[in-house]
Formats: sequence, structure tokens, C-alpha cells
Amino acid sequence: VKAELISVGTEILLGEITDTNSQWLAARLPAIGIDLYHQSTVGDNLGRLAEAIERALERTDVVIMTGGLGPTEDDLTREAIAQVLGEETFVDADAEKQLRAFFAARGVSFAERNVKQTMLIPSATAIPNPRGTAPGWWVEKTLATDNPGDTKYIISMPGPPAEMQRMWEHEVEPKLMKLAGDGVLVSRVLKTIGVGESTIDEMVAPLLKSTNPTIGVYAKPDGVYLRLAAKAPSQEEAWVHIAPVEEEARRILGPIVWGADNDTLEGVIGDMLEQRRLTLATMESCTSGLLASTITDVAGAAQYYTGGYVAYSARMKMGLGVSADIIEKHGVISAETAEAMAAAARRNLDADYGIGITGVAGNDEVEGKPPGTIHIAVAGEFGADHISYTFYQGRQATKRRAVTTALFLLRRTLLARDA
Ligand code: ATP
Ligand code: MG
Repeated sequence: VKAELISVGTEILLGEITDTNSQWLAARLPAIGIDLYHQSTVGDNLGRLAEAIERALERTDVVIMTGGLGPTEDDLTREAIAQVLGEETFVDADAEKQLRAFFAARGVSFAERNVKQTMLIPSATAIPNPRGTAPGWWVEKTLATDNPGDTKYIISMPGPPAEMQRMWEHEVEPKLMKLAGDGVLVSRVLKTIGVGESTIDEMVAPLLKSTNPTIGVYAKPDGVYLRLAAKAPSQEEAWVHIAPVEEEARRILGPIVWGADNDTLEGVIGDMLEQRRLTLATMESCTSGLLASTITDVAGAAQYYTGGYVAYSARMKMGLGVSADIIEKHGVISAETAEAMAAAARRNLDADYGIGITGVAGNDEVEGKPPGTIHIAVAGEFGADHISYTFYQGRQATKRRAVTTALFLLRRTLLARDA
């Protein structure tokens, strides 16, 4: 089954918003056996929208659209589909009643143009949208140009990602899976940290000859990933291909694999702390709270994270218990200061472990140290351990890398504790 994605919206075309919907959807199609051949973006313009749909129907079987389903004048997706298929729109009376009731229940006045959201055409059925007011459209039609029995599908979903994603997972994906009976692609991503891309490539070289699953190695901000992708008539069978190769890859890579698939480093480390009933505190200088923010992106972080300081100035670091002698002797940008920060955070916040980060995230030297100089320390009952490096990639990426490295160092410390 061949598919095309069309994202609708002038904001996307102009680069004002990023088309995350297409990215999100594209990543999900292989697993249900749908081959994505094209992606297009069209502005809120009826003629060009119709043209894009027409072209997509000529070259693919399934057209998946997001955006342009709202009540406003510039939301034209329904009109465009109707025009291409030569069908008249009509108002779905039940849906209209429900929509009016929905507004009344919330005490919001009903603008008449909202009725537009309950429109259908004969070939379309409404797809429920519990997260918003605009239902999607599931359109099935055999065109005059098709072979008999050769049906085309248009799936139109709202633009807001939360609405689209729920609709996809609960309504659309199960139906599409039935359409695409001819093989599915599933993949397992193993995530590593602490070793470079080329080294990983060398380590898994014996496995790279495999064709089902195929294996790819690629670098991401939080480490190097290994993707195993297998094709088979069903998901179960595809997993049977993946299992032995995954086991072998995990054996070769050992503890540098920190997670798989949707795991995040902060989530995995949170689990490690929670399982060991350990607590963590932080003191950050150049990352200014990014570490604290990342740690608390995980639900339930309160179980193990006691808190953190953004100690940007030397004066604040000293106020929190970093000794003036250390700063005087080694400088603010030093492994010693990072260790003292980690120890002070741990002490003040009564935690099992403390993390300290100091460095130069900006574009100018500090204390004669070049941009990208980073010192990260973890302090615990054993004393302290640190990582120092210099790598400047612009302010934000430098901060992000420091946070990832801090999490890596904590993981290394916890693994050493277990050993
Ligand atoms: P609404 O009822 O909110 O108007 P809609 O279906 O008409 O929904 P659009 O008007 O096209 O959708 O987009 C509404 C919002 O949804 C956009 O401002 C944007 O925030 C988000 N959005 C739309 N398309 C995308 C996309 N492809 N990727 C990410 N976000 C998107
Ligand atoms: Mg809209």
C-alpha cells in the first residue's frame, strides 16, 4: 500500500511552525506496512489544495492529511476533498446537535461557522475527536480511473498534534493495518552512550551483514543508536527475526546500552535511582537549570530528585558552600569547583548523590578557558568523580551536551556502585 502525506497550512509553508505531524506520522507507517512515497506541504488555498490531493490520488492509494479542519474561513481541507471527488457537502445533523451541546456545556457561545466542522460528503465518515471540536474524515472511493475494486483512501485529521495523534492511534491506525496486509516493518532501537559512532560500527561489524533485520548505526545528541529493522508478514514474525540479533548486539555492546526505543536517559536514570531508593540534588552554573528541567521531565521525579540550584555567580556558589579557597586556587571553571558544587548540593539538600556542572557555554573565554570547556562532577558517599572536556557547538547545544554527559556520569557512578 502506497501512501502520501499532505500537511495543510500556510504557517507550515512559511516556516512559522515546524511540521511535526508529518515526522510523527512518517515514523509510524512502516510498522503497519504502509510505504510512504511522498510528502507534500500546501498552504490554505483551495485550488492548490485540490491540486495536491488530485496528484496524490494519481500516484498513491492512501492520502493522509493533517490540518485545515477547523471552523475558520481558511480551513479548506473538506472543501478541497469534496471538489476533487466531485461530491456535495452536507451537514451531519447528529454531529451538529452534539457540537452545540458541547459548546453549551462549557458555557461558550456558539459561532454559526462552527457548523462547518460537522460537514460530510457521501464518501466520508466522521472520525471521532475527543480532544477537539473537529472530527476527522475517513474517505473511501473507487475512482473512474481505477481498476474495479481498486479503492482510494483519504484520511483527513486535525492539525493540532494532540488531537491528530489520539485520532491516529485510536481510530486510524487499526483500520489502516487491516488494509495493508502485505508485510510490516518493525524496528528496535538500542541506545548507547560513551562510545563513538565508528567504534560502535566496528563492534557490531559481524552483525552488519544481516539483511532481515537490517542494521543501521547513527549518532544522536544523547548517544549512538543502533536500529534493527525487520520485515515479515506480521509483527509477531518480524519480532522473531529481530530477537536473536538484538540479543547478540546487547551481548557485544554490554553496559554501554542504556535503553531502547522510546527510553530517555533521564527516565532510565530515574528508574535506577528509584529502584535503589537513592536521591539526587544538583548545582548548575553554565547549564542554568537545564539539568534540573531535564530530570523533572520524568513523571514521578519527586521520588528521587530533592532539588537543585542555579548558581551562576562565584558569589552564589560560595554562599551555597563551595569554598573560596577552591575557587581561588583552581578557578570557577575547574573540575575541583564542579566537585565542590556537587558535594555542596548533596550536603545542603540531604541527598545521596549531588551533580555539579561548571563551564563556558558562551562564545567567549572565561578565566582564559575556551568556549565549550565543561567540568561535571558527581559526589556521593564514596567521594567524587568527574568528567572534563572541551567541545563548543553553540550555546544551546553545548548546554544540552553537558546535561547529557552529567546523566551519563551519574549512570556510570550507579553502575560502579552495583558492581
Ligand atoms: P483548528 O481547529 O485548531 O483550526 P485545524 O485542523 O484547522 O485545527 P490548522 O488550522 O491547520 O488545523 O492548524 C492548527 C494548529 O495545529 C496550528 O496552528 C499548529 O499549531 C498545529 N499544526 C497544524 N499542522 C501541524 C503540523 N503539520 N505539525 C505540527 N503542528 C501542526
Ligand atoms: Mg485551523
